[in-house]
Amino acid sequence: MSNISIKTINKSHIDEVDFDNLGFGEVFSDHMFSMDYENGEWINPRIEPYGNIEFEPAMCTLHYAQSVFEGLKAFHVNDGSINLFRPEMNLERMNRSNDRMCIPRIDIDMFFDAMTTLIKLERNWIPDKKGYSLYIRPFVFGTENFLGVHPSNTYRFMIILSPVGAYYKEGFNPVSLLVPEEYVRAVKGGVGEAKTSGNYAASLLPAEIAQKRGYTQVLWLDGVEHKYIDEVGTMNIFFVIDDELVTPPLEGSILGGITRDSTIHLARDWGMKVYERRISIDEIIERSKEDRLKGAFGTGTAAVISPVGEIRYKDITLNINDGEIGPIARRLYDEITGIQYGEKPDRYGWIYKI
Ligand SMILES: *Cc1c(COP(=O)(O)O)cnc(C)c1O
Repeated sequence: MSNISIKTINKSHIDEVDFDNLGFGEVFSDHMFSMDYENGEWINPRIEPYGNIEFEPAMCTLHYAQSVFEGLKAFHVNDGSINLFRPEMNLERMNRSNDRMCIPRIDIDMFFDAMTTLIKLERNWIPDKKGYSLYIRPFVFGTENFLGVHPSNTYRFMIILSPVGAYYKEGFNPVSLLVPEEYVRAVKGGVGEAKTSGNYAASLLPAEIAQKRGYTQVLWLDGVEHKYIDEVGTMNIFFVIDDELVTPPLEGSILGGITRDSTIHLARDWGMKVYERRISIDEIIERSKEDRLKGAFGTGTAAVISPVGEIRYKDITLNINDGEIGPIARRLYDEITGIQYGEKPDRYGWIYKI
């Protein structure tokens, strides 16, 4: 039995939204979910009209970023049902991120109740165009007011929803990457494996520099030797070398993506060899010279599979697969989106139906 209190809006603003031309995370649905953490427990779960929230200037998260988020999607299925893709993985990851950031864990049943109740209420907001979806953004942050550095004693957990189109304006087309020479994203022992706000603030300047130079995103090298590849922008990265897949291992500085995990599963099931191992930028340059670098792509919920057409490192430019989408990236994109939209069989039990 749900104990969520629900206060609905009088008039939806859905008619103002152009569902044929959606960007990413620019418009939000009519309602939002909130609950608060006080005196050691999560209380007052509620759905209310989407709108402003009020805090004091001393609210600790504004100063010290004790904050974690998640991102997943709800898909419109042609039979009228709604598909979520491996949502329990997002919640488990949120709780791991929370552990790292001293934020209290969120009960799995409470989370699912909140998310599914909100999505059902907002089902009209799920776009039915293929490639479009309703992006779900759960997030949690400290709400106490103080300036000394310590964990907050109070928190708010919220879920907001945003109908979205393609993440990159390129759509499912190859992106270009610049390897930053003087910036790193994360180090082992830091917070790189947590989906916590500060990581993204830290990535803005290098990404802006890359974009000014005409590249879509940055390709991060490790923070210690500045030699091994970590991630691409806010995605995990895979390389196709000969007919094998290689992706960096989860050793503390990389965010363990759900799309990464799904990609590894699928490729192994197709009989491909998949290696989770360190891979240096020098090795990538060598394989490219030998004509053995057949492809590269990023993986993440927002873009699903994002093929890479070009990598720039110092004064070296690598052209990958002539800037075309490779067959493996294409097959993975088709398979994962096919499962998500209920067009392909869900052989792994990845779909959670609402
Ligand atoms: C969210 C995220 C990913 C991708 O994770 P998915 O679960 O596949 O969406 C990869 N890297 C970073 C830094 C991220 O924030």
